[in-house]
Order: sequence, then C-alpha cells, then structure tokens
Amino acid sequence: MPNDLAKQEKYNDLEEFVQSLSETMTSPTCKLCNSSNRKAAEAEYERTSNASAAYRFLKDKGEDISNAAVSAHINNHYKKSQVHNNLKEFASDLAKWSQLSNDDELLYTRFVKMLNMEANLLQAENASLPLPERRRNTELILKIGQQITVFKTELKKLQVEKRPVEIFVDTLNRIIRVKMADAQNQETKKVLADLVDQLVREVEIIPDKFKDKEEA
Ligand SMILES: [Zn+2]
Repeated sequence: MPNDLAKQEKYNDLEEFVQSLSETMTSPTCKLCNSSNRKAAEAEYERTSNASAAYRFLKDKGEDISNAAVSAHINNHYKKSQVHNNLKEFASDLAKWSQLSNDDELLYTRFVKMLNMEANLLQAENASLPLPERRRNTELILKIGQQITVFKTELKKLQVEKRPVEIFVDTLNRIIRVKMADAQNQETKKVLADLVDQLVREVEIIPDKFKDKEEA
C-alpha cells in the first residue's frame, strides 16, 4: 500500500485520492478473482459470513479452488475492495455534507447577526415613538428575539452533528501521522502529508487544532 501511494505524486482532494483506489481488486494469480462465479461466491460469503460456505458453493459448481485459496481471496481481494468502496462512498458523502453544513452554518449566522442588528435599531427608536407604535415595536422586537433563538438552536444542532466527523478526521489524522513517522520513503511521507492537509481542508476544521500537532 505505501508503494501504491508513493507512485502517485499528488491528489487534489480526498475524492480524487479515493477514485484512484480500484473498486474491484483482481489478482492474476488468484483463481477466484478470475472465476465467472466470483460474484456469486462473494454473495454466498456475504449471506453466510463464512468463507467455507463460499468454498462449498464453488465446489458444487464444479470449481477446483481450495478452501485456503477461497479464504485468501475473501480477505485479500474481496474485503479490500469493500474497504475501497466504503472509502469512496464516505468521501462523496463528506464532500456533500461539508458543502451543505457550511452553507447552513453561514446562513444561520448571517440571519442571527442581521436580526440582532434590526432588533437593536427598533429598540433605539422606541423612546421617541408614540405609545401605540411603541407597543407594536416592542412586540416586533420580541418576535425577532424568538426567531434569533430558533436560528441559534439550529446552529447548535449543526455543531453537534459535526462532532462525529471531527472525531473521525482527528483519528484518521493521528493514524496517518503515525504512518508518516514510520515511512522510510520520502515520497510516501509527502503523499501522506498532502493527504492530511487535504483532509483538514475538506472538512474545514479549525486549522490551529492541527497546526500544533504538525509542529510537534
Ligand atoms: Zn482473488
């Protein structure tokens, strides 16, 4: 895997990186990879969570593939393909999610500021208004105050939703940094460093949080 990473010079974003991962891993020396019953055997494994069941399924189909070879295929080719596909899905969700959440966050923040300013202006006018108008004005200020609370509640909800993603990125960031420290190859180190930078940018996490770690 580090060798595969080192081959690629630079990825523009996380999505581009995951797109470089193969959806279906195929080894020229693996019998099951090259069998026409591959998909059906993998489905049998998926159904039973048992590599031996996939082996028996293939045997019934008249395929001469050993139990050990079927297990090796499940672990080295099928499961890795799944990890790649999960990563691809995650990257695509993350891209959509961060777009949406940033938009909403900006929108709510803008509304809160705008309404707050409006309430203050109305408040300042109050003293000079005749009583009936002053009453209406005060009612309006109260309504604006309620709406500000609604937007602030939405903002808080967004921040709570963001937590799992932050924790995920934090963990991934830590794992990659350990890998970087272990990597012998400078090119690999560079690719991993780019990946961390991209990850941080992708989810727009407060950079300061990561800067400290980078310098440490
Ligand atoms: Zn295989």
